[in-house]
Amino acid sequence: MIIDICQERATRAHIDLDAVATNVRALRGALPATAKLVAVVKANGYGHGANWVGRAALDAGAAMLGVATVGEGRALRTFGIVEPIVVLGSIEPGEVGAACALGLELTLGDDRLLDAVQREARRITNVPPIAVHLKVDTGLRRYGATTAEAPDLAKRITADPRLRFAGICTHFASADEPAEPFTALQWQRFCHMIDELAASGIPLPPRHVANSAAILTGQGTDCELARAGIALYGAQPSNDVPLLPGMRPAMRIESRIARIVPLAPGDTVGYNRTFTARRAMRGALVPLGYADGYRRSLSGRAWMGIAGRRASVLGRVSMDQVVVEVPDGVHAEPGDIVHVMGGEGAPSIPEMAALMETNVYEVLVGMRWRIPRIYERCGEIIAIDDAGAADLAH
Ligand SMILES: *Cc1c(COP(=O)(O)O)cnc(C)c1O
Repeated sequence: MIIDICQERATRAHIDLDAVATNVRALRGALPATAKLVAVVKANGYGHGANWVGRAALDAGAAMLGVATVGEGRALRTFGIVEPIVVLGSIEPGEVGAACALGLELTLGDDRLLDAVQREARRITNVPPIAVHLKVDTGLRRYGATTAEAPDLAKRITADPRLRFAGICTHFASADEPAEPFTALQWQRFCHMIDELAASGIPLPPRHVANSAAILTGQGTDCELARAGIALYGAQPSNDVPLLPGMRPAMRIESRIARIVPLAPGDTVGYNRTFTARRAMRGALVPLGYADGYRRSLSGRAWMGIAGRRASVLGRVSMDQVVVEVPDGVHAEPGDIVHVMGGEGAPSIPEMAALMETNVYEVLVGMRWRIPRIYERCGEIIAIDDAGAADLAH
């Protein structure tokens, strides 16, 4: 099959599936040899596309996928993923039936959801037991049973033959701050609770605690499973937690110059005229804007890469367009490539996060699906996800 990206919009995200595979192998290398990796592909694979990233992660050695909602699990099943998928977040009791029909593993932390799961388990027959993970809150104060409540829930799960106790887990609050002692305290609380369960004779399911930051800093990794999201995509969880050697970003955004905008001294660029040319210069119109996730707050501060050089954003970012400065001495014409994020001369993902005053997670999930995703493996384009075009077709 020949895929012609010339027919796509100038602004595209290139998704390097080999980078995902490399990152999966590097993360597994940081875990005990028998530990399994959950590749977290919630929020449509942190903006990369859960289907292709999930497939690539499983092919590279991840054991299962993690999502936040039943709908995200359904999308993966529809795509053809048959491997285990765990819903990491809380769901409504009313969603349990759909989740079970899709064969999704569930994460529960209270009686209310466990009641619903047990009701569903009694209702359906001739099916394998429903896999449940018990979430324990060791200090994040978000989802999960307290360490005091967890043993009773664990007993209820083990006592029900229609359920399979597939995991027991907790989540760190500050693993991306390596100097923060709270992570060790959470790990201690978790281990203490596990010891109590073991002492009361409850057969222990696989434990999973570590997220990307914890895997990269070696905290909570001495478990049967670990859950990696951001590092899968080759972005470091925070500036204080570097990636492992060889890991690299999976997303790069580029566009093409739509027009060369000649600027004379005194000309102003864009809405509200926030940039004034002091000398004769050239602008390059780039067809990308805040409706694509290229935030308006980047106005007058960010830059792109043209011919390997920095091209400053001139004036306001508008909804669908932005003008950058063609660096002096650079030959540029319509159709030339502009690197928006990643790629020569452009901000890296962490630099983009700093420019947007947020974290790398929000930068990635904030890249809207109006930008087509071009999936590449072994130097070849294997698929295009152009949800924006699909919307227009409706
Ligand atoms: C999102 C999420 C993860 C992945 O976190 P990263 O920092 O992206 O690795 C792990 N566990 C849970 C419960 C999550 O919700």
